[in-house]
Amino acid sequence: MKETLSINSTDFEVRRSSRRKRISVGFDTGAETFFIAAPTKLAGTDILRILGPQISRLMDRLTPSAKRALPPHKYEDGEKFYYKGVEYPLKRVHSEKEADLSFREGFFFIGSASGNERKTFKAWYKRALYDEIRKILPEWTRRIKVNPASVNIKTVRSVWGSCSSKGNLTFSTRLALVPPDLLEYVTAHELCHLKHMDHSAAFWEELSGHMPDCKERRKMLRDQEYLYRWW
Ligand SMILES: [Zn+2]
Repeated sequence: MKETLSINSTDFEVRRSSRRKRISVGFDTGAETFFIAAPTKLAGTDILRILGPQISRLMDRLTPSAKRALPPHKYEDGEKFYYKGVEYPLKRVHSEKEADLSFREGFFFIGSASGNERKTFKAWYKRALYDEIRKILPEWTRRIKVNPASVNIKTVRSVWGSCSSKGNLTFSTRLALVPPDLLEYVTAHELCHLKHMDHSAAFWEELSGHMPDCKERRKMLRDQEYLYRWW
């Protein structure tokens, strides 16, 4: 029988080994569950005492990378895609004319003639994000009192945004998928880089001054990062 241990309302499978000398927490990507690896003779109460205080931090550290292993999209009828933090189902349209992607009445429509859905989605998200950023940028440039030299949108998966020494801002197409408050966070974050090029205390002070909950938003973006993908 499997030994389990409940910490902060999460059940962990305890995997024991006589060769093991220390406890560690892991995430089983196949079973999508957390487990605790422990020495054979260590009592459950000792595991609780040792892991309890740091369990949420350990779990936070494990899940983002573990969850990044979501299966790729197949672009099938009914499959859901994020837009501004909300998931909407895809409808395949059997029309030669409707090759492009459109969004209406809470559905994404894509023509059966579209041969490359990933690219079609990318182009659609890019346009949608451009419109969204154009809407919120004036407010944030006014608040932070900066003016970017240019604003570009590129399909980069590894970063949400960047700011060059010449004041050119680049945003990832993926931001079209995130909730508005997280897009706002990345926008304000990059704009603050026009004043502070690093992540120094002065940078965070500046950003917090305009967005007091910036650290929470940053954490949310990290935690939910694995969800916001269309490929
Ligand atoms: Zn930064």
